Amino acid sequence: MANYDVVVIGAGPGGYVAAIRAAQLGFKTLCIEKGVNKFGKPAFGGTCLNVGCIPSKALLDTSYKFHEAAHGFDVHGISASKVSIDVPAMIKRKDDVVQQLTGGVGALLKANGVTVAEGAGKLLADKKVQVTRADGSVEVHEAKNVIIAAGSVPVNIPPAPVDQETIVDSTGALEFTSTPKRLGVIGAGVIGLELGSVWARLGAEVVVLEALDTFLPAVDRQIAKEAEKILRKQGLDIRLGARVTGSEVKKGKVTVAYTDAKGEQSETFDKLIVAVGRKPLSADLVAEDSGVKLNERGFIEVDEYCETAVPGVYAVGDLVRGPMLAHKASEEGVMAAERIAGQKASVNYDVIPGVIYTHPEIAWVGQNEEQLKEAGVEYKTGVFPFAASGRALAAGEPAGMVKLIADARTDRILGGHVIGPAAAELVQQVAIAMEFGSSAEDLGLMVFSHPTMSEAVKEAALAVHGHAIHIANKRPRK
Ligand code: FAD
Ligand code: AMP
Repeated sequence: MANYDVVVIGAGPGGYVAAIRAAQLGFKTLCIEKGVNKFGKPAFGGTCLNVGCIPSKALLDTSYKFHEAAHGFDVHGISASKVSIDVPAMIKRKDDVVQQLTGGVGALLKANGVTVAEGAGKLLADKKVQVTRADGSVEVHEAKNVIIAAGSVPVNIPPAPVDQETIVDSTGALEFTSTPKRLGVIGAGVIGLELGSVWARLGAEVVVLEALDTFLPAVDRQIAKEAEKILRKQGLDIRLGARVTGSEVKKGKVTVAYTDAKGEQSETFDKLIVAVGRKPLSADLVAEDSGVKLNERGFIEVDEYCETAVPGVYAVGDLVRGPMLAHKASEEGVMAAERIAGQKASVNYDVIPGVIYTHPEIAWVGQNEEQLKEAGVEYKTGVFPFAASGRALAAGEPAGMVKLIADARTDRILGGHVIGPAAAELVQQVAIAMEFGSSAEDLGLMVFSHPTMSEAVKEAALAVHGHAIHIANKRPRK
């Protein structure tokens, strides 16, 4: 038994960041991680670094380069013959990136003086934390404060049981050794679209089965419609209103049964990715007498500062309400550590950007038109298409737009929505503006380098008031 100021359960982006910040603040800190990655090392970095954000982006980047080389160079007068993809080499590069980053997190924990325990952590009564190691041995530590950051795992659905061979989840979809000829994806959410895009770019015929009738319901309608049009044009066969009801694996292929408006349908694929969402990993994490409460969906209940019903016990990241995003988890981890130190830290939940790393990227921050309409807020919009951007045309990236939404009364920016080149980076500019309480006029007054993709943000801000220069404004104003 040892005593710690702060014990962190989980070393994902919520946990490792919390542990580092706690150590920076002078606390004697323990970070417990139970996961072992495919290299036999502790899964520092959690889902994000091992089987999530980073490996998926590594494959998206490789597959995009391949696709450009195979199909996108002609227009520039470049001929590249015999372009081919070595899938195992692509996977190895992805693994190298993962190893470098997970090793880096381990080194950072050490450099900050965080003690690491390998094993499964469980919160007991009176802020005691039990660690069960892989060999079954158990130790219990006393903690003044606890930050629980155990994250999430993929949801499984009975009609498509994952075997990680033919039917895979997001983790299995990062490990294919060759490009499947026909690939089915269940779920047209962020993960389904990203992983579907990877394998479509490498030549797979991809069919996406989505139970809902609406494409990307959480995204601004104008942006989602543009995204649907562009992704379909790229060859993703997106079938909306298609609910998967069963599957059968035979001779290495899977036949999927689904129902749509026309009735019972079926399709046969070489591989099937199940990407129907994630659920909190809260089973056997907190003892009943610990005082920490879970809701009916398994999320740990916390207040706006991530504190549970037990003072000094916090929970952050995918385990608690809000979007399942790495940056949201990290910010909550920092907030928890700082509040333990008595600081008045908070997270601005109104300004958490989200990104879908398709090509072009789809990114947003703040509120969209549908949310504002529902809330009865009067707003103005400004839209600037990349087809009117000199930089976008020079780069051969004319698809998409920047859309800015501002309060009709105060002109304060309420949301930014981008589909197009570098959307993830552009939306961050809107996020910065929102964080500083900027008006659309403020943003429109700023000087942007020419030629940049960023100029589309300025022009969208100007368009809110009908002042955009490089498009014909809908409502020209003085
Ligand atoms: P996790 O990252 O899940 O980490 C939790 C850690 O706790 C794990 O290492 C786990 O082994 C450990 N653990 C669990 N239980 C215990 C226990 N009892 N004791 C000790 N350790 C325990 N988000 C983005 O923001 N951008 C993206 O581009 C993005 N892409 C993604 C792509 C994919 C394919 C997936 C699957 C996810 C993606 N995400 C992305 C989501 C992102 O990975 C998660 O939101 C983020 O990792 C959550 O961080 P966390 O710290 O809450 O949990
Ligand atoms: P996300 O939660 O963003 O990861 O998206 C998961 C998607 O999977 C959601 O849009 C769900 O509607 C969809 N989904 C869940 N179950 C099924 C099913 N049985 N068949 C088809 N789509 C599904």
